[in-house]
Amino acid sequence: MRNALSIDVEEWFQVGAFERCIDRARWDDLESRVEANSDAVLALLAEADARATFFILGWVAERHPALVRRILAAGHEIASHGYDHRRVFTMTPDIFRADLRRARALIEDAGGVAVTGYRAPSFSIDARTPWAHPVLAEEGYAYSSSVAPIRHDHYGWPEAPRFAFRPVAGSEMVELPVTTARLGGRTLPAGGGGFFRLLPYAVSRWAIARVNRVDRQPAILYVHPWEIDPGQPRVAHAPLRSRLRHYTHLRAMAGKLRRLLADFEWDRVDALLASTPAFDVPRRRPGSSASYEGAREAGPRPAPGNGR
Ligand SMILES: [Zn+2]
Repeated sequence: MRNALSIDVEEWFQVGAFERCIDRARWDDLESRVEANSDAVLALLAEADARATFFILGWVAERHPALVRRILAAGHEIASHGYDHRRVFTMTPDIFRADLRRARALIEDAGGVAVTGYRAPSFSIDARTPWAHPVLAEEGYAYSSSVAPIRHDHYGWPEAPRFAFRPVAGSEMVELPVTTARLGGRTLPAGGGGFFRLLPYAVSRWAIARVNRVDRQPAILYVHPWEIDPGQPRVAHAPLRSRLRHYTHLRAMAGKLRRLLADFEWDRVDALLASTPAFDVPRRRPGSSASYEGAREAGPRPAPGNGR
């Protein structure tokens, strides 16, 4: 089964964990490593002949338009990660719409192709933002991959469906939540981040294989260019917990990614959506509230010829 690999293109200093200790006003003074790191990811993908979706910050596209063009030239999808990594639940609907438009214009100007996918910074579409999916649908997005259906200290929407669903009544727009694993009655984020980087690779391999074989769904994974960069500057004044999460096992990541690319089939999110019959995406019951009960009851339906 094909899975979707996504790369959230941002600088080492733009992560949610450092938001409170690195002021946005200082961003332009810090060492930029996003081009070199993204090129390293592009090389790994080329080596494996795999395609991916790159969710790019408008801020990055504005400063590195040539990187956007290299991503496209290598056959990958370009999509939006918002302008400057502000979490959706900190915005109003109007500010969110303005952020979406600003980022999309910058990414489309750099790449010269249309952007139809969006990923919220730090999976920040949750129970606090019932207006976010409708705004994305109104702005003409084909899909969003902005929900983590888990409980986590920084993010999460535990009531959301674990697999693809249509969050807006009357709209074809699909939400593809990040992949989770069910372990001992708990739902864990198994689609990247600390789960992939901090735990042994075999745990991720097990989680993805289980989603493919048991749930009969593609996995939605994400990595960051800074995660394969052991040489990045250290943020000494960040909380210990954030530093442990951010800096552990950076050196092992390239090797882990190589194994991941070899062990499973990967594609762009837009290609997966267009051609995977397993995406018999449940519809949200028109007029229903944020409970998503209708979506969950409908469940995934395995498609013929899709097993692997
Ligand atoms: Zn991000």
